[in-house]
Amino acid sequence: MKKRVLITGAAGFLGSHLCDRFIKENFEVIGMDNLITGNMDNLEHLLPLEHFTFYHQDVSNFVHVSGQLDYILHFASPASPIDYLKIPIQTLKVGSLGTHNLLGLARAKNARMLIASTSEVYGDPLVHPQTEEYYGNVNPIGPRGVYDEAKRFQEALTMAYHTYHGLETRIVRIFNTYGPRMRLNDGRVLPAFIGQALRGEDLTIFGDGSQTRSFCYVDDQVDGIFRLLMSDYTLPINIGNPDEITIKQFAEEVIKLTGTTQKVVYQDLPKDDPMQRQPNITKAKEILGWSPKVDRADGLKITFDYFKSLPQGKLFEKEHKNFDKYQK
Ligand code: UDP
Repeated sequence: MKKRVLITGAAGFLGSHLCDRFIKENFEVIGMDNLITGNMDNLEHLLPLEHFTFYHQDVSNFVHVSGQLDYILHFASPASPIDYLKIPIQTLKVGSLGTHNLLGLARAKNARMLIASTSEVYGDPLVHPQTEEYYGNVNPIGPRGVYDEAKRFQEALTMAYHTYHGLETRIVRIFNTYGPRMRLNDGRVLPAFIGQALRGEDLTIFGDGSQTRSFCYVDDQVDGIFRLLMSDYTLPINIGNPDEITIKQFAEEVIKLTGTTQKVVYQDLPKDDPMQRQPNITKAKEILGWSPKVDRADGLKITFDYFKSLPQGKLFEKEHKNFDKYQK
């Protein structure tokens, strides 16, 4: 009998790549998504498969899945500052109520539950690189608070289910990850820069571009998550690529890669934008035997080719069509 896994946020960037990986590993996969920010194009290739099923459902409401479940991976959440501004309450609900519903489902099915946490639990970090022991520097009422605090609550709730109910749980703290199937218009820096280059617009650097990020290619990220799920480790673990660069350098890399003749323009730095971010991955290396394999140059090339292959109209879509429907 194949193992059955439920993946929430399945139509999103990370969720869809996770579905691919579990199908490859011979699992029966149930993908769930309410399609606020997810896109069925990301799952189209899986829909005809016998061992893949899609449920159109909002996990912030009661979740029912019939039959056995061996694993649950909770990846449903908006994940960019622009999305948090547009759907703040949904962002809070999916991290809190959604997680609660899924933990209940995991208990009922005796399934192992992995939650997608984030480097945002460290806020604008005062410790660099960030280790799992650092408690973070988060503004609960700032624009990122709806995401950061939902994710912090999610970790607390998950640990409580682990210690109180003895549920098998895993917590991954995901650092900036990129690759094909990112949403072009979600405001994240990589699709923003590549989209601008492809449309012939100037690249918008927020602030002076001296803030740093460390970008992990999606296949590496998915491999880290898979290893964590299969391990015995129950405390939070960082998965990301420690190769850190400034946003200004990153813009220069995108300009070179895309061959755009546009220039960079500077705009205001958004409030509470973290000034530096780099994961300490000692734990992932020692406990999971994991380290990232894909260089940024290679990963960026694959990602650029993906964006280039999209229908021209997609490049100019500004707003996600489903946002209004879900405002509550
Ligand atoms: N950023 C930028 N120009 C853009 C979009 C983002 O300079 O058009 C900056 C943003 O201010 C941040 C960094 O790039 O400092 C990464 O932003 P992203 O939203 O991708 O990720 P996060 O801030 O959540 O790490």
